[in-house]
Amino acid sequence: MQKNEPIRMCIACRERKPQQKLLRLQEKNSNIFPYSGQGRSFYLCSGCRENEKKVKGLIKRFRLTSEDSEQFVKYLKELDRNG
Ligand SMILES: [Zn+2]
Repeated sequence: MQKNEPIRMCIACRERKPQQKLLRLQEKNSNIFPYSGQGRSFYLCSGCRENEKKVKGLIKRFRLTSEDSEQFVKYLKELDRNG
């Protein structure tokens, strides 16, 4: 029997993947945060998370300031370190 896993689309590469494998994030006031449980959210796959070009594309898309984008990149790197 196949499990009915929710499928979501990665915002950067537009590939559809099981929600569990995606990182859920949120955009607010031109900044990107881990999803807080409220508001609009989007998903990022692990491949795009590690892809500098894709990350930069996102930063541009959401018009992050250089300070905010530094924080965002740092957050992604810390995620990778923690597995
Ligand atoms: Zn992706």
